[in-house]
Parts: sequence; structure tokens; C-alpha cells
Amino acid sequence: MKFWKKYSSKELSQKINQAIKSNVNFSTDVSLGYPASKLDGNVFYDNAPFLKDAPLLKAFVANPNHIGCHTIGESERAFKGTHELEREALNVLAVDIFNCETNAYDGYIATGGTEANIQALWVYRNYFVNNFNASFDEIAIVSSEDTHYSIPKGSNLLGIKNLSIPVDFETRLIDRDVLKNAIEKAKNSGKKYFIVVSNMGTTMFGSIDDPNLFAEVLSEQKVEFKIHIDGAFGGFIYPFNKERQAIDFSNPHISSITIDAHKMLQAPYGTGVFLSRKELIHNVLTKEAQYVNGMDLTLCGSRSGANALAVWMILFSYGPHRWFEKINILLMRTKWLCEQLDLLGIEYYHHPKMNIVTMKSTKISKNIEEKFDLVPETHDGNNKWYKIVIMDHVEINHLEDLLDCIKKSWTEEPEFQ
Ligand SMILES: *Cc1c(COP(=O)(O)O)cnc(C)c1O
Repeated sequence: MKFWKKYSSKELSQKINQAIKSNVNFSTDVSLGYPASKLDGNVFYDNAPFLKDAPLLKAFVANPNHIGCHTIGESERAFKGTHELEREALNVLAVDIFNCETNAYDGYIATGGTEANIQALWVYRNYFVNNFNASFDEIAIVSSEDTHYSIPKGSNLLGIKNLSIPVDFETRLIDRDVLKNAIEKAKNSGKKYFIVVSNMGTTMFGSIDDPNLFAEVLSEQKVEFKIHIDGAFGGFIYPFNKERQAIDFSNPHISSITIDAHKMLQAPYGTGVFLSRKELIHNVLTKEAQYVNGMDLTLCGSRSGANALAVWMILFSYGPHRWFEKINILLMRTKWLCEQLDLLGIEYYHHPKMNIVTMKSTKISKNIEEKFDLVPETHDGNNKWYKIVIMDHVEINHLEDLLDCIKKSWTEEPEFQ
């Protein structure tokens, strides 16, 4: 670990105060040009006594704008203190968790996984246009059918086709021949450039795609490709498993990664993360963004600096060891659930290093779904799966309750008679 450590609450507080101090202070400094200020004083009191002990809320009231990307070129001077903490958080993620060389990546705290995924698709679409003179209809996105809907959304926005590759019903994995046939077919219809989205934890199953399978098949087919990892769900879990496949920047085929801090990290909404190797992000430079000092290389414009600080603060209040322990507690609860389901004869999908259990729907009634807020795979009346996500607030006694109710439903509910 080069960057990630644990700070005491006093250290966290000092560093955040220092960062806010290095920013422009709208209450005391002369600052005439920004359409920005601290939050409205009638609603957000900046001298409330409790703010003294709540550094993050203080940052929220100070309202720094982190517009732009702060790993490359210049950035707005007014917010340089808190930009530095955003960079520290990104260093932990890119270098310590995802094995990138120091200073060999660009990235930013985005509004969410959707933005980070679309940012990646946008970078690669323009990369193929700028470097190969590709036309939009020569470019295709390739991803499994279990991929998050932000990818079809991006495909629609960016005007490039999305090839959805079916997976095996039980294993949720893509078969090599199925992938090969799909790529051959796409090639025959004029596709030459491929943007792969390989999942590190699908939303419904927690299944993990093998990025090397995509790399091997596309290399054999002698086409140009780039691989993006969607770790929006799995990014704060899967890398902490010691026997994992290296789905990170140590794999030369992988060029970018999405992570969501507002899922497993329990940061506030608005904290997705986009990371990519150097020499890629300039493909989405908006030259017209001339009033922003430095460059705007991001999809969203203005964004909250307090959100970046929230990510920083969570990471540095745990440090790597306590985070590892926290994840393992969730995995132990997940394992307990799987053992109980085995005893009851309820079939399910579960990746052993993830905290999702997706049960086949045959033994689960509509009442159980509603009572426990289980998430169905589809709402179209043809649902085959229900998922349980073992988050921090999902404890063994909740799971015990669920199992008791399921057992009871088999004798009491008419659909099982
Ligand atoms: C949640 C999720 C997203 C989208 O993230 P938002 O933060 O909701 O925009 C993308 N991919 C996966 C795998 C997800 O689980």
C-alpha cells in the first residue's frame, strides 16, 4: 500500500480543515468571477456549533466545485485544497486497489456508475474515431446480457451498437464459442472496432466476467478492441479476495475501470469513480470549455467537492486492514445464507467472493418477495430469480427471519399446494 492508511478522527478532521482553508473562502476572500458561493446561509448555517466536530458537513457548506479532471493539466485554483484530497482518494483506488503505476492514470469522482461507464464508452468511441478514422457504425460495444442498463443507455446516446452476449443460465458465464460467433457475425456486418465492457460483479448476480476471454477471442479475430471493467458493484469487494483473478491495471488489456463509492463504500449518492490509463482521456476534451481553467475532460460539468471528500474520509477512516475485515464479515454472512439454502433445497447462484445470493424463483412466493423487498430479475411477469444483497445492514437475524417465512409459506400459501 503506497497511499492507503488509517487516520485517527483527529487527523481526518485536521486534513479536511486544512484542505478547506486552502480553497477560496467565499465569506472572507474577494472572489468576483465565479457563479459559485457557499451554500445559502438562511438554510445552511455556516457558524452552527456542531460543524466544528463535523468536518465533512463543513466541507458540504463550504461547497467546493470539483468541475473538470484533476489528475492532468491545471485545475481551478479556487478549490486546490480539496482537489488534493480527491487525488489522494483516487491514488488509493487506482494504485493501491487496482494496481496501476503511480501517475499512470487519469480519473475523477463522477456522479455515479452510470456516468463513469458512459465516460468510458465516450473515451473509446472517440479513440477509435481519432486514431483509426472509424465511423460510428464500424464500432460496437460487447458485453454480457447481465450487464447493467447504463451500457445500453450509453450505446443509445453515443450512437454505437451494443452486442449483448447471452450467458449460461446456471453459471452466468459467456461461452467462448458463443462469443466467437457473435464477433464473427459483427465483423461480417462491418464492425471493426470493439469496446468491451467486462463485469466485475453484475448487479443481479454478482457474477464476474473473464476479461481475458474477451481479449483472446478479439485478438484471434484480429480486430482492434479496448476493455473497460464495470466494477460499480464489485469494486470494493472483489479486489479484497486474495485468490482473485487480477482484474485490474496489472492486466495490460484493461484500460479503464468504473467503481461506485455510493454502493459498498456507503458514501452519499453522487460518488461514482472513473479511472483510465494515461493517454486516453484527452479523447473527450471539450475544446469549447474555455472558461474552465485547465480542461474539462469529464461528462458532467460542476460537481460536488464534498462528495470527493466523503470518499476520501471513508477510505482513510478504515485503512486497508479494517476494510478487509469489514468485507469478510459480509462474506461470512453470505456463506451462512448459502449453507442454509442448501439445507432447504433452494437453488441459487452465488459467486464465492461476492455478497450477492440470487435464488431461483420457484420456491419463493410473491408474499415473501414483498415482505422482504427481494429484487426480482425482471418485472415483466416472467421472473426466474430473486436477489439478496448482504449489505452492512443485512444481519443474520434478518436472514433467519426470511428463511423461517419461506419455510412457512410452503405449507400455508395456496401456490405451493
Ligand atoms: C449500480 C450499477 C451501475 C450504475 O451505477 P449508478 O451509480 O446507479 O449510476 C453500473 N454498473 C453496475 C454493475 C451496477 O451495479
